[in-house]
Amino acid sequence: MSCLFCRIIEGAIPSTAVYQDEHCYAFADIHPQAPTHVLIAPRRHVESLASACDEDRALLGHLQWAAAEIARAKGLAKGYRVVVNTGEDGGQTVDHLHLHLLGGRALHWPPG
Ligand code: AMP
Ligand code: ZN
Repeated sequence: MSCLFCRIIEGAIPSTAVYQDEHCYAFADIHPQAPTHVLIAPRRHVESLASACDEDRALLGHLQWAAAEIARAKGLAKGYRVVVNTGEDGGQTVDHLHLHLLGGRALHWPPG
């Protein structure tokens, strides 16, 4: 298995788990960009948001729900940001769909 996040999800590469269920695995980003920086990835390999298909619709909703659950658990009552970098121009560097949950500080806009 050559996909980095598939290897993390199967436990072959260590990570700090934050939340998990039958559909997704959430873990701490190795290079955090905010006090809370969690990656939420589907257990099933989906390359990117751009390659998600009709049958992934419920999964996409589930990932957003998981982000909100984690934010609640982390006490991010002042707010947070959920980002899905997609493709080359979107800044995606790992080709396994994932949501970034960023919080714990004021975030700037536009993101650049
Ligand atoms: P993206 O650039 O949107 O594809 O996000 C990939 C993210 O994965 C980056 O924020 C990286 O810091 C993070 N990352 C890369 N390798 C690891 C790893 N082994 N464990 C946790 N996060 C990682
Ligand atoms: Zn994968």
